[in-house]
Amino acid sequence: MDSCLFCKIIQRAIPADIVYEDNATLAFKDIRPQAPHHYLIIPKAHLKSLNDISADNRAGVAQLLEVAARVASEQGIAETGYRCVVNNGRHAGQEVDHLHLHLLAGRPLTWPPG
Ligand code: 5GP
Ligand code: ZN
Repeated sequence: MDSCLFCKIIQRAIPADIVYEDNATLAFKDIRPQAPHHYLIIPKAHLKSLNDISADNRAGVAQLLEVAARVASEQGIAETGYRCVVNNGRHAGQEVDHLHLHLLAGRPLTWPPG
């Protein structure tokens, strides 16, 4: 997807502070962190949202959670705790139409979200 911001980050056309990469997944720091630790974990395949999950790509989507746990461990936040969030669609506040898992940590996080 030529016009997609996160596809451009995958292609290194836009810089990002990358913390993890494998063949199917990329994780990088959010440019406007909402907590001391705030990472975005994305599939390299362009899926717009969770609505695009299918038998063809579900392994890559499941891998987002596995990578979240790995990044949490590497960043030293696995034991204190972290939150994984997907904003899916307009009412959830999704701004970037490339599926991404937010990984937030580093302070007590309130519940419920707004
Ligand atoms: P959404 O609201 O779609 O769930 O989250 C999009 C996230 O992408 C926001 O938290 C926003 O701060 C982050 N973001 C937007 N543009 C950029 C960018 O160019 N680089 C990085 N690293 N994060 C971005
Ligand atoms: Zn994309």
